Amino acid sequence: MADDRVDVTVAAQELETASAVEILRWASQRVPKLTFATGFGAEGCVIIDLIARERLPIDLFTLDTGVLFPETYELWKRLEDKYGIEIRAVRPAQTIPEQALVHGPALWDRASDRCCELRKVVPLRHELSKFDAWITAIRRDQTAQRANARVVERDVKFGLLKINPLVTWSHDAVWAHVYANDVPYNVLHDRGFPSIGCQPCTAAVAPGEDPRSGRWKGKAKQECGLHVADARGSDAA
Ligand code: SF4
Repeated sequence: MADDRVDVTVAAQELETASAVEILRWASQRVPKLTFATGFGAEGCVIIDLIARERLPIDLFTLDTGVLFPETYELWKRLEDKYGIEIRAVRPAQTIPEQALVHGPALWDRASDRCCELRKVVPLRHELSKFDAWITAIRRDQTAQRANARVVERDVKFGLLKINPLVTWSHDAVWAHVYANDVPYNVLHDRGFPSIGCQPCTAAVAPGEDPRSGRWKGKAKQECGLHVADARGSDAA
């Protein structure tokens, strides 16, 4: 495992002020089995842009829950076409109709944690078991849970290294890169959706509201469980 070859504390300190490209280059040189799990947010599109322009040998995938917005599926295709890349689909064991037969319809309305577990966390855990490290697009100022994220950290929950090249970036820095480099992004961002996940659990946000308040609106839930520490210790969409 690359875990054994990387001193996480030292690497996090050394890379704290490195550029996102420098972090991605470092990771692609140091970690043999490296993947980027994108949720197609603006940050994810920036990382795809950097990986593709630098031609870095990094695997790319997304969790296709089966209930993404049509605009997200369209963005997925636009990114592949623009950069000549493949973003693999990782899907849950059950389709939405199969899940409805077992758990009842619209599980997201009745038990969103269970739905996220089945449609995101379990498939992600299975996929990440094939890799030494995963790259994520999280930023420290997105949520309280992400405020202490490091550039490089050990992901105890999923059992591999986690690399966060945009962790020090601001919202404005992300969008400056998008506009300056003509990076494809989800058209829903221009329609009041600053943070976009599954269609049933994402609502538009009024100007001035918390950008993530449209996710699981009306529920206490803020994260799908991909970047939240479990009971044992440490940290897509
Ligand atoms: S975000 Fe909603 S629809 Fe998507 S997996 Fe979680 S609960 Fe289910």
